[in-house]
Amino acid sequence: TTRIERHHYDVVVIGAGGAGLRAAIEARLAGKKTAIISKSLFGKAHTVMAEGGAAAAMGNVNSRDNWMVHFRDTMRGGKFLNNFRMAELHAKEAPNRIWELETYGALFDRTKDGKISQRNFGGHEYPRLAHVGDRTGLELIRTLQQKIVSLQQEDKAETGSYDSRIRVFAETTITELLLDGDKVAGAFGYYRESGEFVLFEAPAIVLATGGVGRSYKVTSNSWEYTGDGHALALRAGATLINMEFLQFHPTGMVWPPSVKGILVTESVRGDGGVLKNSDGKRFMFQYVPDVFRKQYAETEEEADRWYADPDNNRRPPELLPRDEVARAINNEVKEGRGSPAGGVFLDIASRLPAEEVKRRLPSMHHQFKELAGVDITKEPMEVGPTCHYVMGGVEVDPDTAAALGTVQGLFAAGEVSGGMHGSNRLGGNSLSDLLVFGKRAGEHAAVYTDALPARPRVAQADLDAAVETALAPLTREGGENPYTLQQDLQAVMGDLVGIIRRKGELEESLVRLAELRERVSNVSAAGGRRYNPGWHLAIDLRNMLVVSECTAKAALEREESRGGHTREDFPSMRPEWRQVNLVCSLDGDKVRLEHKPLPKMRPELIKLFDRTELSKYLTDEELAEFDALAE
Ligand code: FAD
Repeated sequence: TTRIERHHYDVVVIGAGGAGLRAAIEARLAGKKTAIISKSLFGKAHTVMAEGGAAAAMGNVNSRDNWMVHFRDTMRGGKFLNNFRMAELHAKEAPNRIWELETYGALFDRTKDGKISQRNFGGHEYPRLAHVGDRTGLELIRTLQQKIVSLQQEDKAETGSYDSRIRVFAETTITELLLDGDKVAGAFGYYRESGEFVLFEAPAIVLATGGVGRSYKVTSNSWEYTGDGHALALRAGATLINMEFLQFHPTGMVWPPSVKGILVTESVRGDGGVLKNSDGKRFMFQYVPDVFRKQYAETEEEADRWYADPDNNRRPPELLPRDEVARAINNEVKEGRGSPAGGVFLDIASRLPAEEVKRRLPSMHHQFKELAGVDITKEPMEVGPTCHYVMGGVEVDPDTAAALGTVQGLFAAGEVSGGMHGSNRLGGNSLSDLLVFGKRAGEHAAVYTDALPARPRVAQADLDAAVETALAPLTREGGENPYTLQQDLQAVMGDLVGIIRRKGELEESLVRLAELRERVSNVSAAGGRRYNPGWHLAIDLRNMLVVSECTAKAALEREESRGGHTREDFPSMRPEWRQVNLVCSLDGDKVRLEHKPLPKMRPELIKLFDRTELSKYLTDEELAEFDALAE
């Protein structure tokens, strides 16, 4: 029989980005024995790559900011498809989560009077992103890790061991969740280096595995983002929502080919950078949609005045929400006004003195110098859309972060969860989301374990099945090559389920995904269990495929364009679709898709919007209800 190392925990957190670390801290503070597991090295997660900042309505730079303005911006950004309760909790709790980070040792950039500085970002009415240059995620991760070390030192003093209450398992991939009936009982996986198997028995699991970008060829995501958490949740009986909504960040590098997709932070535009086409024209002015017309400048002069005097001018259209900017760039390129490498130009050189560019955007300066041989203080950058963030994810209870569906004891926070950002996430709202809902997930995982009458048990048969599934690619000979399969999957998703979608192509994508599913079930990896990336990818492919199917199915079903889902054949938003979430679940190994009505916004929240704005989103019946409230 195969050797399996066993561990027992109260709470197991899968993922060591911001959401996972914040959840683990909270579970440990609640006295739970907690494990943190990460597929990559500890400290290397998407969170560490986050550049621009964390959005929180602290009102440090403009005192008019408050949670209600942030809530409104978030709902607008998501085109009113957000789970309103999540957007409400997020807007209310983000400032406290940021201030709390300072008690863990975070050092944010300051305003002149010594408060945490806040910068402008797309879709945010006031300067709102707490930041550390363009390396905010690094500070977030550093601080959360520091807090974990301090808790481990307390535990050492009390119990004699650093690991007694909180332990990190790095380079460990979870491939299966194990259940006892409907209750979570454990997580099974392997150590990447040795290929040895490991079982974590635990009554509560927090998924914090991040995104899905590796199913696309051009992406800002790194290798480990294969939708594992999404797939683990589905197989455990949880549901996914909003999977048709993917954020294509407008500005990824487009040249040289080896770095295509790597992110160029939105801070470049927040700090004054402008987008130009091959005619040298600032084209974004032509792309302001009606719903945003009132908030955005109509002339370059007004837009430029806004940086110094935001109270008396409207913002530049370069700072529209990301979906709008990505579509605009896509269109400029399609109509033949693109840059030589197939993007557009992003110019900060003519907008800020060289020293200021280096001070505000040190990583971008370095990145372009090293990777493209471009000095951004002298020349424009070439940029184009890149698959960046998945709005869709595990459907959760907004207050407790508990996964919905049939499973109990499963929680999800951060990018792997869905609902918070609706059809489109505003920049900066992810880092704050991680902290707000990471904390809530850890807290409620602890509450859940306390209420359990007995510990669920892992069944031997389930464990055997997990081992067999994991070993299958190694025991199978002459099957499909995992790298070829990944490339084929990326081609299907990029070409047929990309930024602009069409019915025929989406239908074709489902046929192609069904073929790929057959081929993936016949994948084989050469070599043995010791550090074998081909084997690891072979295991991940199963997850990428089921998650891609959810995206393609939902994209075909949603006959409108909204946020991160653009249908050429249904080019506008349709109010009746705003009331619908598309919910994916598994029926055997088939993806099932259902319509589910969105929860209704509470009266005091909907009254934060004016009627003219609501009329752009709501159905006539909903507007009549709103009018009745006002009377
Ligand atoms: P991540 O930080 O992505 O961490 C996921 C963790 O799960 C990792 O530790 C990974 O190893 C682990 N994992 C995954 N699968 C498994 C498995 N099967 N078994 C075990 N472990 C697993 N957002 C902002 O708000 N502001 C920004 O300025 C910003 N800039 C960004 C820049 C870049 C380049 C990128 C890629 C994203 C940026 N984002 C930004 C988005 C934001 O960084 C992410 O959405 C966020 O960090 C996700 O955090 P998370 O905790 O959910 O997951």
